[in-house]
Amino acid sequence: MRQKIAAGNWKMNLDHMEAVSLASALIHSDIPSDVQVILAVPYVYLSELAEMCSASENVTISAQNCHHENSGAYTGEISADMLLSLGVDTAVLGHSERRMYFNESDALLKQKMDQCLANDMTVIFCCGEAKETRESGQQNSFVESQLINSLFHLEASAFENIIIAYEPIWAIGTGLTASPEQAQEMHAFIRSKLAEKYGSETAESVSILYGGSVKPNNASELFSNKDVDGGLVGGASLNAEGFSDIINAF
Ligand code: PEP
Repeated sequence: MRQKIAAGNWKMNLDHMEAVSLASALIHSDIPSDVQVILAVPYVYLSELAEMCSASENVTISAQNCHHENSGAYTGEISADMLLSLGVDTAVLGHSERRMYFNESDALLKQKMDQCLANDMTVIFCCGEAKETRESGQQNSFVESQLINSLFHLEASAFENIIIAYEPIWAIGTGLTASPEQAQEMHAFIRSKLAEKYGSETAESVSILYGGSVKPNNASELFSNKDVDGGLVGGASLNAEGFSDIINAF
């Protein structure tokens, strides 16, 4: 169901005590009842933080990745089954850092999508173009190809468990943010492709988040756009006060 979402991607940051204290501060902060907060935290903290959030109305925990097989000889990897056994039913897939540093291709992400959805998990699927792609005006066709290659083999019903995050690579961790107009334009484009493929009811039901240097001072301008349902936030989600301001920016 389409909803307002503030998702924090902690990446490989925070030690144990810092992680617990940030999660605790957010759980006890003022969160509007219609906003869902998702914290994508390092694997080692999932169990404890999922337990901490279990009593919270609107804060849930997500993994930052998930393997495409359920078990086996994949040293260092984590499966959907394992996540579910900790009470974690959400994973981020296709973050540009995974695509770039761990060679995750559209084809692999298709397999990961299938694996997570077959296990009834929710997926935050990331897409977005590099600087050169935008400079050459190819951003729409590039993002469309990511959707086609990893998502568009799915049935419409699968989108009940998919959140899309549009994250232009040139805006991630760089301090450069897409303008509200650029974000709205791409989100509307993504929704139009969903509508073409699955019909407008499905397209209107999918939450599409913007990610890329979302900060307390630009969140409300971004979130006020018709097709921007919230944000996937990296750096600014590591500070309780700043992330809380973003949560309250809708
Ligand atoms: C991200 O990691 O998904 C992200 C958008 O990072 P940042 O907000 O730091 O640009």
